[in-house]
Amino acid sequence: MMIAKEIIKKTPLRLYNTASRQKELLTPQHGNHIHMYTCGPTVYNFAHIGNFRCYVFEDLLRRAIKFFGFSITQVMNLTDVDDKTIKGAISGNLSLHEYTQPFIDAFFEDLKTLHIEPAEYYPAATDYITEMIRMIEVLLKKGFAYQGNDGSIYFSIAQFPNYGCLSHLKLNELQSGASERIASDEYEKDNVADFVLWKCYDPSRDGSIFWESPFGRGRPGWHLECSAMAMQILGETIDVHVGGVDNMFPHHENEIAQSEACSGKAFVKHWLHVEHLLVDHKKMSKSLGNFYTLRDLLDKGYTGAQVRYLLIQTHYKTQLNFTFQGLEAAKGALQRLNDFIQRLHDIDVGDKKSEGGGKVSALCQRTLEHFSASLADDLNISAALAALFDFVRDMNGECDAGGVGKVEALQALELLKTVDKVLGILTFEKQDPPIPEDLQAVFEQRLQARQDKNWKLADELRDMIQQRGYLIEDTPHGPRLKKG
Ligand SMILES: [Zn+2]
Repeated sequence: MMIAKEIIKKTPLRLYNTASRQKELLTPQHGNHIHMYTCGPTVYNFAHIGNFRCYVFEDLLRRAIKFFGFSITQVMNLTDVDDKTIKGAISGNLSLHEYTQPFIDAFFEDLKTLHIEPAEYYPAATDYITEMIRMIEVLLKKGFAYQGNDGSIYFSIAQFPNYGCLSHLKLNELQSGASERIASDEYEKDNVADFVLWKCYDPSRDGSIFWESPFGRGRPGWHLECSAMAMQILGETIDVHVGGVDNMFPHHENEIAQSEACSGKAFVKHWLHVEHLLVDHKKMSKSLGNFYTLRDLLDKGYTGAQVRYLLIQTHYKTQLNFTFQGLEAAKGALQRLNDFIQRLHDIDVGDKKSEGGGKVSALCQRTLEHFSASLADDLNISAALAALFDFVRDMNGECDAGGVGKVEALQALELLKTVDKVLGILTFEKQDPPIPEDLQAVFEQRLQARQDKNWKLADELRDMIQQRGYLIEDTPHGPRLKKG
């Protein structure tokens, strides 16, 4: 679709940058290629729907970047060593690898269910320990790091005046806390402090989980893992870095400090942060009974596409309030779109253009313009989806009026396929229409007749089925009815 490409190409993609607090044009450093880093899961349990809000958004962004004509290399790390994975492995009496692998497998399965395109790289932290040690050596040499009394290596935030630039912390107002040190991987804003780069081994806490290093046995701090993997795979300055808003401080601040102190170069050009997901207006927690993994929703009969639709339909910078009512509404909206696709499949009036042809072309073009312009404006998904639903309403009107022939139906399908490259929610396969109830009853009578070895009745019932235009097909799960 020549026109489609032209419409999309002339639309510049602007995205909000957390660091500058304004929308900026996405401009790659190298040609047309975007290097994107996305903080991945800590594989100590199944990811919950709050986590998936972030991963689904990152997929939407990835697809949008490609939609607007860029190529991309995306890295998503797997944190398989930190406070939580070590604790889990020890309490389960397992090696770190034995403990994390089932959660890694489950994570990839969930990504597939949610139609998330695979990133180019999924580095595991435990495969990059050498690079992490090398970074710490540089930071020690340059005077940004020091060894504490406990034997661990810390990053000295006093040596990095830019500390806090992303979350706009006023460091001088927090100086009292800044003289402290913190050894845990996660902490709150009122705890601004020197953070751990290498955590010294403690047999009573770490069991047999440690690595050898020039600074003694231990393991890397969580924050350092992302910096080392991002710079190793994507280079010292990356185009786009995405993560949940809860990771802005301290995780992303720490990533910036370590990386820039090490390389002397800007670490990230464009930062994007995804807002929280709430359930019934409350923070999701196991104790409140409002905690859901993707698997919980699938067990309730929802599909990955329905959950994905729910997660993408709220703009990423707005809090998303998850409710089952909302999920039902998403299911209904998706059904409307898919029903329309089936309606287009059923239009078969030869290859001739219908009289409504010009109108349908204009509708397709207008829809694509609105959809692209909305997406290009910091991924304004509500406006993009509104353009899509307007299209479906107007096209249904055209179909009712007989203004849509096969040529127009194919044109409309092509438009839907184009927008679904970004949305990833639609079903294009032609679905069999539901089997009439009375025919299903005849089919079941025939199964019974065969069981009773009443071959004459079975044959009569089969003929009756065939006269209605259906066939009986043998499948590994037994016979079923199929439109002939
Ligand atoms: Zn990270």
